[in-house]
Amino acid sequence: MIELKNITKTFYKTGREINALQDVSLHVPPGKIFGVIGTSGAGKSTLIRCINLLEKPTSGEVIVDGKSLLLLSNSQLAQERRQIGMIFQHFNLLSSRTVFENVAFSLELAGVSKSIIKERVQELLELVGLTEKVNDYPAILSGGQKQRVAIARTLANNPKVLLCDEATSALDPGTTRSILNLLKDINKRLNITILLITHQMEVVKAICDEVAVISNGKLIEQGTVGEIFANP
Ligand code: ADP
Ligand code: ADP
Repeated sequence: MIELKNITKTFYKTGREINALQDVSLHVPPGKIFGVIGTSGAGKSTLIRCINLLEKPTSGEVIVDGKSLLLLSNSQLAQERRQIGMIFQHFNLLSSRTVFENVAFSLELAGVSKSIIKERVQELLELVGLTEKVNDYPAILSGGQKQRVAIARTLANNPKVLLCDEATSALDPGTTRSILNLLKDINKRLNITILLITHQMEVVKAICDEVAVISNGKLIEQGTVGEIFANP
């Protein structure tokens, strides 16, 4: 479902070269939950941002759902990006809009009718367990509730792939568990492939089928969670 082939990303900053990713290849089969774990500065953010081309790789190939994204025109890419949902550490909700308006936003942009939007938002908020917050503003929600809104918002587009950028890193352990359970549920019920990046081993152990370890811009290990975290 997601394939990165020999991705290199070099940043140039004040005459210095920073090799954020060096020849990274990975394959995420459809329906799996795949984790990339590494310390701060290892290249996790750059890697996940290369999948939806928020960051353009210096070289290599990005294939999502059979399409080579770097070969697409801008309008084709915009189309494909709708298949790729993303959630963030700090949720990135629109603070001047209610929960309803946040979740409805992309549907409005897509020109969906008001009655269908209402139905769809209701259904999405049921899925994430937040129907009673429909008219609240993000500021009064807890971190876990904000992440549930962000998940509902990204699912509105019916993505095939969900990218999670340190999605539980701002949450306490109990809330982290409940959000991870929700992600697992979404993966199973909606058959959405999930790629997540994290610095937390517990996250990978809790929900990932497969894991890759990134260090200094290189994938240094890859396998099932059992293989990578096997006790000696
Ligand atoms: P992580 O997400 O694992 O903390 P990042 O992908 O953010 O790692 O960063 C990898 C390396 O690339 C770091 O050395 C970081 O400083 C550098 N980097 C990331 N983005 C940029 C950028 N836009 N410009 C310059 N350097 C960057
Ligand atoms: P987060 O942990 O919230 O994902 P990051 O620290 O990874 O945030 O990066 C935030 C933004 O800053 C990203 O767009 C990343 O590419 C950019 N960035 C990261 N490191 C650097 C750097 N050394 N120089 C310039 N931009 C950077």
